[in-house]
Amino acid sequence: MSNALMEQVVSLCKRRGFIFPGSEIYGGLSSSWDYGPLGVELKRNLKQAWWKAAVHLRDDMEGLDSGILMHPSIWRASGHIEGFTDPLVDCKACKKRFREDQLNLSDNGKTKMCPECGQIIDLGQNPPRMFNLMLKTYLGPVEDEGAVTYLRPETAQGIFVNFLNVINTRHRKLPFGVAQIGKSFRNEITPGNFTFRTREFEQMEIEYFVAPEEADVWYRKWIDLRLDWYLELGMKKENLRLREHAKEELAHYAKSCTDIEYQFPFGWSELEGIANRRDFDLKQHAHLSGKDLTYFDQARNLRFLPYVIEPSGGVDRAVLAFVVDAYRQEKVNDGTRVVLGLDKSLAPFKIAVLPLLKKNEKVVALAKKINYVLKNKFMVKYDDTASIGKLYRRQDEIGTLYCVTVDPETLEDNKVTVRDRDTMLQDRVSIESLEKYFQEKGL
Ligand SMILES: [Zn+2]
Repeated sequence: MSNALMEQVVSLCKRRGFIFPGSEIYGGLSSSWDYGPLGVELKRNLKQAWWKAAVHLRDDMEGLDSGILMHPSIWRASGHIEGFTDPLVDCKACKKRFREDQLNLSDNGKTKMCPECGQIIDLGQNPPRMFNLMLKTYLGPVEDEGAVTYLRPETAQGIFVNFLNVINTRHRKLPFGVAQIGKSFRNEITPGNFTFRTREFEQMEIEYFVAPEEADVWYRKWIDLRLDWYLELGMKKENLRLREHAKEELAHYAKSCTDIEYQFPFGWSELEGIANRRDFDLKQHAHLSGKDLTYFDQARNLRFLPYVIEPSGGVDRAVLAFVVDAYRQEKVNDGTRVVLGLDKSLAPFKIAVLPLLKKNEKVVALAKKINYVLKNKFMVKYDDTASIGKLYRRQDEIGTLYCVTVDPETLEDNKVTVRDRDTMLQDRVSIESLEKYFQEKGL
């Protein structure tokens, strides 16, 4: 895949209202993005598909929505205050800042170079400073040390600190999991690649609690389940791969970790990580809070801290990957068309209702009536802002699955033309059987 593709995707996202640069009228804010009218629908559909798979279709899962602001001791227990740091290096020549591991090696292979201006960076004279990635803030009116807290850098800890609440209110036995979708914040030194790496982002995380001796089996099971989820939503198999972390790459809490990677135009990059976090988090929280977080296994008359398998995915990354994956250009009779071939559960609009002649009042009135009726069952949009050819192209570009066209003949025979996004084939369908028609298409 090429970066030309990335430019086309970014341009389509802007042009069609999926993703806008953040704070644009003020000249933008570095690596911040806003989801527009189409983007918000796509993102909601994606989260809904995840929630359905992770929570609603499983008997062993519960949902949660914990706070972004939490007790600062949580970040001490989790290791984020001590260890959530990147080595920050300044280039004295161009004044840009980098993570040490992003510097280029110079020709002699011994010194490091600035990737921006090419000057040698003397790490002896200019050693990297450890920079904490958590965004700090103050609770209340006084900005002193006692009021310091952080915007959460991961949603996971909200689940760990509610472990007892969930187990006690839901009478859960192992194995079971808790799922959460929400915003997290990391003060990245070098965000970038469109919405791939941003300082404000949304996560979809599962913490799955198991008996320690079952952890490896569940780790493997969750890798398969999560990979299948992307495939079932239509992502191309050849653009997905699994990458198991080497021992020296593992986070301090993890026993093992596998990334699900997507082949973005800028290279293979992480969509989601599945980690075996052992009992690290529960042990730490039990220690710092003084609360007993052990689980009692009645059958075995045994008390222990559960191990945790964590599938942790990025919502924004998944949205970007699905858009890149679905983007295609096709030759058609009158030139090329751009199609966003999104899966039916992800497409922002399922059906567009279009009048063939926007000046024919009867045609317009009937099209609006059909739109009004179908709306109760499907995600439908009415559009009469251009000629029919243009309207088709626009709907193709935003991934709308079907276009329903009302023409003067409809006034005679009560039938409309239904056009399929992918095949462009057209069916003539009677108005009263439209609902059944779309239900049979799986909408
Ligand atoms: Zn430089």
